[in-house]
Amino acid sequence: MHVVRGYKAELDLNNEQRTACLKHAGVTRFAYNWGLARSTFKKKSKGIGSFRLTGSIHVFPDAVQLPRLGRLRIYEHGFIPTNAKILSATVSEQAGRWFVSIQVEEEQEKPAPTTTMAVGVDLGIKTLATCSDGMSFENPRALKHAQKRLKRLERQKSRRKKGSKNRAKTCRKLAKQHARIANIRKDAAHKLTSYLCKNHAMIAIEDLHVAGMLKNHCLAQAVSDSNFGEIRRQLEYKSNWHGVHLTVIDRFSPSSQTCSCCKWKDEGLTLSDRVFVCLDCGYVADRDYNAAKNIRNVAVSSIDTQNACGQKSAGLFNGASETVLVEAGTNQRYGLSINV
Ligand SMILES: [Zn+2]
Repeated sequence: MHVVRGYKAELDLNNEQRTACLKHAGVTRFAYNWGLARSTFKKKSKGIGSFRLTGSIHVFPDAVQLPRLGRLRIYEHGFIPTNAKILSATVSEQAGRWFVSIQVEEEQEKPAPTTTMAVGVDLGIKTLATCSDGMSFENPRALKHAQKRLKRLERQKSRRKKGSKNRAKTCRKLAKQHARIANIRKDAAHKLTSYLCKNHAMIAIEDLHVAGMLKNHCLAQAVSDSNFGEIRRQLEYKSNWHGVHLTVIDRFSPSSQTCSCCKWKDEGLTLSDRVFVCLDCGYVADRDYNAAKNIRNVAVSSIDTQNACGQKSAGLFNGASETVLVEAGTNQRYGLSINV
């Protein structure tokens, strides 16, 4: 199957090349603003922006050759494939660093998951993700940790005279901090989603109402620091790449309150209760781990009921069993009527 992918690498520019890139971005901004003359303009102070190039683009292990800009070195050697069909190149700036993103079309084998595991994932604020297979991923809380530095820089900026060089210097420092926060968040999300997609045949997550959570003033900062939207976006495209079945379960499913062993419900469970104790069967587990197992169970049983094949499907994903059978020699999982 054809897959369009973007490979982004940082450029190692000399002064002349940096000026050329700035000019290109300036011209693009001018053209954009000319078209938008009646509404909001793209301000240079909001970032230098980016520009997209098509035409004669070549990739070398240590450089890219772009129309009019010539050969530009990149920091990460051998990352961008040199023999793929190149569609376009986008050059962008972020907090003083320049990047090139090469969009290529690749031929990819129809993916077949290498494992048979089904996993449920409970996303949270303290622990970014708790998986039903026992793995958990810490939340780096990048914004929270940078808060002190950000406030100091914001104060410094407000003291500097508008239009002065010192104010511009502080603005650059602030932009760098914000870029760093974004990078830490993205890194955590990539590590989590890659682990999930490379090691499982099926992933179940909850359909979190992120926009609603952001409206809650007390939750907003922690939620945006957790990057739930980005995690969902990455899971959607990576599950496609790896041939993994992604199931999103209803957000009103009582995953935290239900016992993952016997389905008993603890109606009185509050957010501060970190341990789930079942008063029926005596099961005791970390609250998030219990929720992750429930998420997996709900997804698995919904597939079991959807399954058209019938035979051998019942119970395969169920209960404490982590595994899903794969029919030998094929990619067809019993109990899954999926098209990958
Ligand atoms: Zn129980």
